[in-house]
Amino acid sequence: MALYNLTIHEASDLLRKRQLSAQELTRSVLERIRTTDAQVHSYLTVCETEALQQAETADRSLATGGPLPLLCGIPVAVKDVILTKGLRSTAGSQILAHFVPPYDATVTCRLREAGAIIVGKVNCDEFAMGSSTENSAFLPSRNPWDLSRVPGGSSGGSATAVAAEQALAALGTDTGGSIRLPSSFCGVVGLKPTYGRVSRFGVVAYASSLDQVGPFAKDAQDCALMLQAIAGHDPRDSTSVNTSVPDYQASLTQGVRGLRIGIPKEYFVEGMQPAVEVAVQQAVAEFAALGARPVPISLPHTEYAIAAYYIIATAEASSNLARYDGMKYGYRAPQTEGLGETYRRTRAQGFGSEVKRRIMLGTYVLSAGYYEAYYLKAQKVRTLIRQDFLKAFEACDVIATPVAPTTAFRLGEKTADPLTMYLSDIFTIAVNLAGLPGLSIPCGFDENHLPIGAQLIGRPFGEEVLLQAAYAYEQATPWHLRKPPL
Ligand code: GLN
Repeated sequence: MALYNLTIHEASDLLRKRQLSAQELTRSVLERIRTTDAQVHSYLTVCETEALQQAETADRSLATGGPLPLLCGIPVAVKDVILTKGLRSTAGSQILAHFVPPYDATVTCRLREAGAIIVGKVNCDEFAMGSSTENSAFLPSRNPWDLSRVPGGSSGGSATAVAAEQALAALGTDTGGSIRLPSSFCGVVGLKPTYGRVSRFGVVAYASSLDQVGPFAKDAQDCALMLQAIAGHDPRDSTSVNTSVPDYQASLTQGVRGLRIGIPKEYFVEGMQPAVEVAVQQAVAEFAALGARPVPISLPHTEYAIAAYYIIATAEASSNLARYDGMKYGYRAPQTEGLGETYRRTRAQGFGSEVKRRIMLGTYVLSAGYYEAYYLKAQKVRTLIRQDFLKAFEACDVIATPVAPTTAFRLGEKTADPLTMYLSDIFTIAVNLAGLPGLSIPCGFDENHLPIGAQLIGRPFGEEVLLQAAYAYEQATPWHLRKPPL
């Protein structure tokens, strides 16, 4: 076994017992990046020197024998939409290709305060718009289980970094599925927290009423540790909620006895890949064997989720992306005459085609005369979707569904038709519209040896229960332990 194979909890144990140094661990991870990244393309920036310096600092703290921060000496990767002071943060876009932020996002600060070592910034779809990383302005990442396939998106680089063991864990963002979809495609654990659980300050905004930062990890316990480090109120993000953060580690082993697991009939539909349906049903059976009780439920407005999402998300994006005008920061088109032309050329050259499509859609749905027909209507549908979930949670404690209707698709398979790409998120988007926590856990493999993910959806601020359920499931099943053939 190599050092990069360790989980956070295993490495922390060894670090604290002084059987391993943070520098050894970091070197092993950096070496793994060097030998595998030409295949999977997780990283846009690797910060070797800074990482080794941080590891040295961690080793000094470890040597004192005093109380240590939660992630002391743990090498992690950060999605490139999350700002890192002094370290290029591109959001996967040409318009920010050379942008070096003057400050850290709150989640970055919290990782640093927790003693984590940031080894680099990982690839994503441009401005987190996409489901495959093929919209990255730089290059697509590749699925470590099959290099001809996508890792999912938009946080594809976060998922490949963890699956290919080029970091012990990673941060990503999820607006409509961008943590859960790549987690399921790459066979790792990924958690989108409740809207408001984690600060969005310093995270490049896509759709502000939906965006949340969350962890990618090798197992539920590591996921709990990462969430612990980043969760909690932030006065600099007015949408972060001021409620106490539970001790996710302490309650991890509570088991699922008596837990009611809702199975929504709308999430087991025709056209799904049979292996996905079988694996998720088997996961439900496993939960039942562990003492949980499956109950049928209905989420009747599910079919409207994608339509409502692509109105709300594009409307918010069109407003959020207005700031990239070549004036304040980021790219400016050269040799232009006058303000109007500078704006036009900067945005024409700086944004990729999917981002432009969304800005145009969003501008349209917000325009006078159409606002009521589209945006307002979508907001009403959003309320109905949230009410569906809250009603369902009267009869159950968590909801289990597939993460996606299929396993990882091939590069290029869906790029010609944006609508088929949008449909990859059919099972994840409603969770964002309702603001709920959603966890993706590995639950099997298909006939092509590609990972399958099960989604557990919780009540608002119910991350604890999701992690408990995932932990219990991992104790009984081998799926999270399998490694890609790299
Ligand atoms: N695939 C969805 C989109 O393109 C969700 C992306 C995300 O969660 N950031 O909008």
